[in-house]
Amino acid sequence: MENKLKSSNKKYILIGGAWPYANNSLHIGHIAGLISGDVLARYYRQIGKNVIYVSGTDCHGTPITLRAKKENKTPKEIAESYHKEFAECFKDMQFSYDLYTKTEDEFHIEEVKKLFKKMYDNGYIYEKKDLQPYCVNCQKFVADRELLLTCPSCGNQTKGDMCDCGYEPKQEDLVNAVCQTCGNKTVQKENLNLYLLLGKLQNKIEEYVEKNKQNWRPSSQNETEKYLKEGLPEKAVTRNLDWGIDIPIEGFEDKKMYVWIEAVLGYITACKKICKERGLNFEDYWKENDNNMMYMVHGKDNITFHTIILPALLLALEENYKLPEYMVATQYLNINSEKISKSKGNGITIRQMLDEFDSDMIRYYLIGNGPERKDSNFSLEEFKLTCNAEIVNKYGNLINRTLKFKGLEKIPAGIVNEKIKNLIQKTYDEVSKSIEDLEFRKAVAQIRELVEEGNKFYEERKPWEEQKENINDFNDTIYTCATLVANLSNLYEPFMPKSSQKVRDMLNIGKSSWEYIEANKNMKIEGVEPIFNRIK
Ligand SMILES: [Zn+2]
Ligand SMILES: [Zn+2]
Repeated sequence: MENKLKSSNKKYILIGGAWPYANNSLHIGHIAGLISGDVLARYYRQIGKNVIYVSGTDCHGTPITLRAKKENKTPKEIAESYHKEFAECFKDMQFSYDLYTKTEDEFHIEEVKKLFKKMYDNGYIYEKKDLQPYCVNCQKFVADRELLLTCPSCGNQTKGDMCDCGYEPKQEDLVNAVCQTCGNKTVQKENLNLYLLLGKLQNKIEEYVEKNKQNWRPSSQNETEKYLKEGLPEKAVTRNLDWGIDIPIEGFEDKKMYVWIEAVLGYITACKKICKERGLNFEDYWKENDNNMMYMVHGKDNITFHTIILPALLLALEENYKLPEYMVATQYLNINSEKISKSKGNGITIRQMLDEFDSDMIRYYLIGNGPERKDSNFSLEEFKLTCNAEIVNKYGNLINRTLKFKGLEKIPAGIVNEKIKNLIQKTYDEVSKSIEDLEFRKAVAQIRELVEEGNKFYEERKPWEEQKENINDFNDTIYTCATLVANLSNLYEPFMPKSSQKVRDMLNIGKSSWEYIEANKNMKIEGVEPIFNRIK
């Protein structure tokens, strides 16, 4: 079993969680898409790997400048306030990032400039003059999403970046579009921009996808292959904006980097930063070798940024970077069977959830019912029912009935039941395999089955009768259940870290591990509080 694991001969694990964009609060759908990254990070630390788990806030770009204008603030103020909010939400959700940074971070900015310059010097970024919509009245080039036009596909008025009908206006559709700021018609004016020559990397990316796609979920495979089939386009990497990272090339002082390129490079800069801070060797994690593994965790709207753009940038750097092998893309989380949409206002922010519920329960639900291969549904009613039935009634009950057994003062020095011991050992192996196969729902179900077996064992043994009739049997039963609870605190650590810590404190277990352990014999039991509260 052990040597069948994908990670068996790897030492270094790098996990990148997608970078949330700083113009709106995090909702539970975001967390559903990102939580698998934390499960992986915690699990791999537990089994003794060297883990780096990074993410950060995406701070630049037009939507933030528009929001700032509307709220009469600076883009920096908007980005900062969301960054603070995101960082707090992740912390309260027990995300164990080694670094949660932001694209406004000085280190990121300086490193990105170097990386950009390198790709330019390597000939993957080149200059091109283009005609672009310009507003004579505002005296500026107008970004796509600040343009208004009639959608050629559905006939409704739309912004220049994307119509509600799904149509993406092409360059020729934008001729004569209206400037949203002042209402005047734009003119076409020559503009010098830099472009990334993705097409030059088409073959190499195809090879990379072919080699790694068996590690990806079907959505990542399909989306990527569709994109590749259309032929990789050249993509503008500069734009006329005031808010963003400067272009480190002469002649582009009036422009900033397009968000998509610098935010994706954030994985590299964040990893470099944490290595620098901790005196680790960056190359162990991100250069091509047999000792490391890399995961990218994101929602389905972000697939090609990770399967095509990121590998393209890494290849364009020509510095023997490793390309990410594992893509963990999730589908959408619907609320009450409807898509989360700002216009419907049906989203639930993660802060709203945290104000009312325990973070472990939120994590448990979002992982156990996560949108792994298809959209999944969230309703408060289902959330409450699941948490009460699976966490409180099963796991919580097993802990309580074992450690709060009437009159029990210390963990008895019993012998662990062989069948339960074998089940525990089997569960470690099964959950390992599920996590490494990116089957997190399955992993949660496997641990739940072990809890159920524990409760069944308890009921069959009837310790309340054994206590009177045969004290040795009673001791064995309680010791077996206490040992099971100790192991559950290990197994649940990637999923419910807060309660796992509480259980370890109660049982006087130091660090979590990923192997069969036994409860401390004759340990005095005191201060056992219910770990979970029933949701009313
Ligand atoms: Zn349309
Ligand atoms: Zn204008």
